[in-house]
Amino acid sequence: MPQIDLHTHSSFSDGTCTPEEVVHNALKAGVSLLALSDHDTTDGVTQAQQICQVHNLPFISAVEISTRKHDHLHFLGYGVDVNNPSFQEFLAQNRQKRRERICKIIGKLQQAGLEITEEEVFARAPHTVSRAHVADLLKAKKIVPTRQEGFRRYLVPGQVGYVRSAGVTAVEAITQIKRAGGVAVIAHPGMVSSCWNFPMWVEAGLKGIEVFYPAHTYSLKQDLLAIARKYGLFCTGGSDFHGPRAGRIARPGIYIPQDHFNRLQHIFFNK
Ligand SMILES: [Zn+2]
Ligand SMILES: [Zn+2]
Repeated sequence: MPQIDLHTHSSFSDGTCTPEEVVHNALKAGVSLLALSDHDTTDGVTQAQQICQVHNLPFISAVEISTRKHDHLHFLGYGVDVNNPSFQEFLAQNRQKRRERICKIIGKLQQAGLEITEEEVFARAPHTVSRAHVADLLKAKKIVPTRQEGFRRYLVPGQVGYVRSAGVTAVEAITQIKRAGGVAVIAHPGMVSSCWNFPMWVEAGLKGIEVFYPAHTYSLKQDLLAIARKYGLFCTGGSDFHGPRAGRIARPGIYIPQDHFNRLQHIFFNK
């Protein structure tokens, strides 16, 4: 079975590797098709693409867009034109909403007695800021031992620093990806099964499902494959690699059945 990774993050959002390091990790892992899909920015894509070219690794430009419905209802946009001005304006607005959310989170944590400042968080996030940067600062200040603990103790629903996501609607995310010449794919649907709305998403222009994902069980994958068949959606795979030091998965790459791999080759490279 071929190994691909259409879902990776670099230091342009909440990953711990530069785009170049993401590519090198993917090559080392034996990945044969790669996408860099940072949150709300395509600024790392050019760098990743150049390194992929040098190493002859097929590459797809991508971005991951958050919605306000759920902290994990995300849409991946593949093959978007990164030079499309209105799409870049849309991403800039999303990044601004993220900054506003992070400021509210920091305010709540300060009220709870934590000694952290906006400047300290933003200094860690030159491109797209996220809750991971707050968690990393808490770790750097020895308030928590890991990024995951930072989330668990302070940043998830029910905890003192939680603030609702301020992203766009699902339909808007899909529409914007489509307008930028990209194809929209629902990311890690297993994490958001409570808010599935495939009829609405397909109507808006959804083209694919991230079926192959580390946390997806066998039975969930069977359900998603059935949904894909029903709506004529293609199936992708991604690891959500955030770098070996992010405390999630250690390396990029996920196995995908040959027929799904062939379909991706056809969609993205006309092969
Ligand atoms: Zn995601
Ligand atoms: Zn992701």
